[in-house]
Amino acid sequence: MSSQTSDNACLACGHATEAGLSSWHRICPECRYESGGLQPMINDEAAHHSIDEQDREAGLREIRLENFKDILTLIEANSASASRRVLDVGCAHGWFLEAAAAARYSVLGVEPDAKVFEATAARGLPVRKGYFPEALQPDEQFDVIVFNDVFEHIPDVHSIAAVCHQRLAPGGLLVLNLPNSRGFFYRLSKVFARAGWTGPFERLWQKGFPSPHVHFFNATNLTGVVSRHGFRLEKSTELPSVRAKGMLARMRFDNTASPVSVWIQYLGTMALLPLTRLFPSDVLVCLYRRD
Ligand SMILES: [Zn+2]
Repeated sequence: MSSQTSDNACLACGHATEAGLSSWHRICPECRYESGGLQPMINDEAAHHSIDEQDREAGLREIRLENFKDILTLIEANSASASRRVLDVGCAHGWFLEAAAAARYSVLGVEPDAKVFEATAARGLPVRKGYFPEALQPDEQFDVIVFNDVFEHIPDVHSIAAVCHQRLAPGGLLVLNLPNSRGFFYRLSKVFARAGWTGPFERLWQKGFPSPHVHFFNATNLTGVVSRHGFRLEKSTELPSVRAKGMLARMRFDNTASPVSVWIQYLGTMALLPLTRLFPSDVLVCLYRRD
């Protein structure tokens, strides 16, 4: 098999993918898995300067905290073990660590971004600098491994899923919280992109960000990937992707967009908010049980 052929094979079902809406975007016609070929720029100074970290934190915090509470409720309801060791891969500012610690879990985070790691460690949270699983001790195992907005950034998700199986105790939970390709705003962005307005589509793929998205999954093709590595789907659900509070700050964090463009997107989103409740949410959460 040539490398060209294997590059174009769907990583969820193996079918040949087709050109998508951009030179870097491909879609599997069989399972609707979508891949992106944007280059990551983690720890790259230029990429960091294109984002106003303060705005980003302010805008994301409200919705993340609400969703983390819901995720902890899901973990509690599906936990098979009395042991409560949680690993948060790519823990960023440590908000999930704090929420899980408050719910009496024994928590550990790993974070590869040097600046984010330093800020989180400076707040006294249990975080190690580096990637999963290299940042762990050889024999460390957990009852729950969580990826909050991280899995869609990892190129080799098959290797990561296999490592999660090794690092989870039998019966442990793998929790994936990630963008949903069936989500209302993502599908709307594709409608706009087909009509020639690519801004929202590129923003949802995080083009020009320190670590752009590599994948867009739905619950079915995500399960196609993870179930090949000794996991079975325990629960698949959606969480709200939009709350009015913090919306403008969230939209401003890519400050390469013009203020007028940000305001148009903001007002459009607010007007559509009631309508979005009728469609699948852009935030997918899947819980997998380790066999
Ligand atoms: Zn496929």
